[in-house]
Amino acid sequence: MRILIVEDDTLLGDGIRAGLSQNGYAADWVEDGEAAQTAMLTNDYEAVILDLGLPKVPGLEVLKKMRAQGNDTPVIILTAMDGVDERVNGLDSGADDYLTKPFDLEELTARLRALLRRRGGRSTPVITHGELIVDPASHSVTLSEKIIDISPREFTILQLLLENHGKVMSRSRLEEGLYAWNDEVESNTVEVHIHHLRKKLGAELIRTIRGVGYIIDKK
Ligand code: CA
Repeated sequence: MRILIVEDDTLLGDGIRAGLSQNGYAADWVEDGEAAQTAMLTNDYEAVILDLGLPKVPGLEVLKKMRAQGNDTPVIILTAMDGVDERVNGLDSGADDYLTKPFDLEELTARLRALLRRRGGRSTPVITHGELIVDPASHSVTLSEKIIDISPREFTILQLLLENHGKVMSRSRLEEGLYAWNDEVESNTVEVHIHHLRKKLGAELIRTIRGVGYIIDKK
């Protein structure tokens, strides 16, 4: 899951990036509003964590412009404790949620999961697909009530395919979910992970659409 962090406070920005990486997210971090706009032009993000007080282009402008351009990526804004007006303005300008500083990384990841769940049209925290049950909170996977051992990157690919079931996901789109800018990209990595997922979960779950990508059909 690829996340963009926009935060000019170096300690906080780097802390969020490190924390999200540890939780299996591919997190990119930029320090001003202009860099955020450029990042969103060149990458597909599952969510954006957006500070409002930013150099070059203020956070609220970044948000308004995104929505005006039809970019509906979920956005969590970061605001000061006493920033009631900021929060109201942010939500009215198209933010999906907010966090007041200081906050716990655990709360941030829980809110991210809730946003991604709503985006996938789910009301329940776990993803169910026939006998397959995937829990984004605990990163656990069970198939016919048996616990399946799955690596963090295999989990990301499986979750991306399930959240977008019925849609073909290109190899590059899946790869984007796996790596942040500074990560070293392995070659053929998506193919290798799909191969492992098929071995663990059955050959039929993930279909290859030749020359296009991969799909998990709707149940
Ligand atoms: Ca700031």
